[in-house]
Amino acid sequence: MRRSILLFCLSVLTVAVSGQRFAVTHVSVIPMNRDAVLPDQTVVIENGILRKIGDAGKVKIPAGATVIDGRGKYLMPGLMDMHAHFFYEQGEHKNTCETELKMMLATGMTTVRILAGHPVYLDARERVKTGNWAGPDLLIASPQLVGKWLWDEEPKNYEIVDTPEKAAAAVRRFKKEGYDAIKITFMVNREAYDAVIRTAKKEGIQVTGHVGPLVKLPAALAAGQQIEHMDEFIDMLLPDTSYNHGQSVSDMNLWRMNAWATVPYLDEGKIPGLVKMVRDAGIYVTPTNFFFVSCFGTRPSDEVYKQRPDYAYIPAAILPEKWQIKEHNRKMNIPVESLKKYVDLRKKMTLELWRAGVPLMAGSDSPEWFQVQGFSLHDELEMFVECGLTPFAALQTATVNPAGYLGLQNRKGSIEKGKAAEFILLDKNPLENIRNTRSISGVMKGARWYDQKAVEQLLEDAKILGR
Ligand SMILES: [Zn+2]
Repeated sequence: MRRSILLFCLSVLTVAVSGQRFAVTHVSVIPMNRDAVLPDQTVVIENGILRKIGDAGKVKIPAGATVIDGRGKYLMPGLMDMHAHFFYEQGEHKNTCETELKMMLATGMTTVRILAGHPVYLDARERVKTGNWAGPDLLIASPQLVGKWLWDEEPKNYEIVDTPEKAAAAVRRFKKEGYDAIKITFMVNREAYDAVIRTAKKEGIQVTGHVGPLVKLPAALAAGQQIEHMDEFIDMLLPDTSYNHGQSVSDMNLWRMNAWATVPYLDEGKIPGLVKMVRDAGIYVTPTNFFFVSCFGTRPSDEVYKQRPDYAYIPAAILPEKWQIKEHNRKMNIPVESLKKYVDLRKKMTLELWRAGVPLMAGSDSPEWFQVQGFSLHDELEMFVECGLTPFAALQTATVNPAGYLGLQNRKGSIEKGKAAEFILLDKNPLENIRNTRSISGVMKGARWYDQKAVEQLLEDAKILGR
């Protein structure tokens, strides 16, 4: 009963604040087009667009505007997660997209790229676009292109492309079906890969994803592929000696002991050469470090995972599988020094890529492992700072950088006149401490204002996932 009353209140609230004029007054603006905080600003929003931003004393509040008191708060662009998935691919394959979208929005995500496509997600994208569902704007990558498929599971979110013909046909079909990018995953051979790149260029669709051992990093860089997970980067640190097995701990090799055996011999001195290669290729990189560092590197205890806020939102049907993987992982008994070195190298590579000017993008890869969408993007931002980036640079990875990569810089990524009103209101300054991105007290998206209560309600609704 209580629940239905609350839901009713929310729907009333949602309708009430749609499409109107808003003014956030006396707020500190973090514009993100430069490293600055603009104190005591008033931001006027009309029909989902930022109309005016200026000194609170000078900006006129339009008649009939809903006024949001921004005193003591920080207004920054909504966050973009460039690598996420839906729970539909896990456990019972239940379509809970609508609820997951609420969780993403409540945690400050206003744009999310889903990196393994399915028609169900295209449908979700449309429902958000038409305003029927509350949620971030979605970009849906194609079903993943693979060379082989080892699991016999529904739903089918992959396409086997083991010849150039199949590869070209798949790219054309997915473009036609409305996917926003082509996703590459495992074991695609070089000929098929080249056909993917060629066809995608012709069709005008971006290619993103893993770099497999049959392709190798130099070919992926030459192709201009947008690379996820820093796949194959670590392999470039293999020494020029007999210890060079040709493959280190990238991609599927993270599960192979013989790949881990190479880690003590990885040569940190090769990072500058690697970084130069990546920078010269002009590509964007999504390290997804939080997932890789915690799952394969630091390996926190069970208790740590259970205490994370994400844990309450993981469907019960999925949990046993996650614990099994963790146990399998533990049984690999990888020497602690190798785990440490793996983490250290990932962090160093990330820092040096940033220093060299390689545009990095935040991606959580949730709901992989024990992380769920939205929450874990904040972990990824924190991880960037742990790598050595400034908080401002970390925030760029979830705002201006992805907006630039997606060609949406005129609409998204910064707080500037004429851009979409997609922002979050924070109680604390994230430039002082990156953890403050979690202090969300309001979200503006799609001409709707979600105040503190509405945000809490979205999260309350999303708790249903964790059953
Ligand atoms: Zn992924």
